[in-house]
Amino acid sequence: MSDSSCYDVIVVGAGACGLMCALQCARRKKRVLLLEKGHQTGRKILVSGNGRCNLTNAYVSAADYRGTPDLAEAVLKRFSFQNCLDVFHALGVLTVQEGLGRVFPRTGKSTAVAEALRLACAEAGVVLKTDSEAVKVEKKKCFRVELQTGETFISKYLVLACGSKAYPQAGGTDSGYKLAAALGHHIVPPTPALCALNVRERAVARLQGVRAQVRATLWPGTERALHSEGEVLFTAYGLSGPAVLNLSGPAGKALPEGPVALALDFFPDIQDKELFLKERAVRFSSRPAKEFFAGLLHENIANLLIDFAGIRKKLPVASWTENTLKGVAKTLAAWPFTVTSLRPWTEAMAASGGVNCAEINYNTLESLRCPGLYILGEMLNVDGRSGGFNLHFAWGCGYTAAQAMPEE
Ligand SMILES: Cc1cc2nc3c(=O)[nH]c(=O)nc-3n(C[C@H](O)[C@H](O)[C@H](O)COP(=O)(O)OP(=O)(O)OC[C@H]3O[C@@H](n4cnc5c(N)ncnc54)[C@H](O)[C@@H]3O)c2cc1C
Repeated sequence: MSDSSCYDVIVVGAGACGLMCALQCARRKKRVLLLEKGHQTGRKILVSGNGRCNLTNAYVSAADYRGTPDLAEAVLKRFSFQNCLDVFHALGVLTVQEGLGRVFPRTGKSTAVAEALRLACAEAGVVLKTDSEAVKVEKKKCFRVELQTGETFISKYLVLACGSKAYPQAGGTDSGYKLAAALGHHIVPPTPALCALNVRERAVARLQGVRAQVRATLWPGTERALHSEGEVLFTAYGLSGPAVLNLSGPAGKALPEGPVALALDFFPDIQDKELFLKERAVRFSSRPAKEFFAGLLHENIANLLIDFAGIRKKLPVASWTENTLKGVAKTLAAWPFTVTSLRPWTEAMAASGGVNCAEINYNTLESLRCPGLYILGEMLNVDGRSGGFNLHFAWGCGYTAAQAMPEE
């Protein structure tokens, strides 16, 4: 084996955390080889945020993560929102903060982020090999990594930054779990997260394309009810949009036990919906049902609600009984759905599950089972809400591991 095949650090996976880790290691004078199975680096960065890359969130905290929030908290201590902004600004990426604390590159394009990292890696001397899938890893005195081509490389430290099975069209794979398992790690079975939900109620197709601001509540089996506020998007098969995407991880865990109940509150800000509707009914007593809901609900939602509640469309609101109003208020407070399954991995933006974090040092992200091995990002059993939290965690992992590696 030639000398050039021996590195201080081999990073497997040139996604969000792999690029960040490789860059920070190279800046700390390490000889770094970055292996990427795809033809291009940072493919999930490119597709993120609808091509705009929601790269972090001003309000990021451990509460935004499931799986192992304590590990996320340890990473956030070392890589805060401000650290994240400082790093990207220093890389030449200008940013803009939008609603709910979400931060995007000012160019409006995710390429700004992916390119900044790729260029900085090259400038720092990272050796990048694309079309290079690591298929075998082992540790004797050093780590030995074998590619699908049969080429081998050795290194003192090994970083697994292979991401999850989510979104295979942008590189999602379970390859990282297999490599980690070969080095002694256990995997919490991954299920799709940030993924839309199939529901039993076929009538939902009548709302396809409609968006609404809601509070979604999920009853995942034995766990207590979980809530998520934000936008819901109705689809031909069920529900999407941040409010329900954020509940898909726990829904996926509960689904093997059977369908899961979910309800949407269309007016979470109105405490007494019955009183609110009564007052509105007095004000607009001569209006027929459809016109009564104008300005309150999207037309398609109003139509479905009218059918659902058995209301006679043409009769004025004044003719509604007390029970009709009660029924409408109840439905608007908790419109029931039955989640039957998650959409497939090809539509998932993240994964719940992954490498068991009990086997990882939270402060360094070094393996407790295999010294010198670091496991980062979405490969770990940590998943964030929608809103920039997953990328923040990925950058934070890359940064933390690089800082923690001993000096040469
Ligand atoms: C459509 C979509 C939109 C998203 N939008 C956002 C958003 O706006 N904000 C946000 O915070 N998060 C978003 N996410 C989630 C975010 O992109 C991921 O959480 C993040 O990219 C994970 O980073 P990672 O480095 O752990 O994995 P990845 O970015 O997936 O990188 C892993 C890399 O490893 C490579 N690889 C895997 N196995 C091997 C191997 N054996 N050998 C060599 N290379 C290998 C893969 O090809 C890949 O390039 C989105 C995800 C998707 C799919």
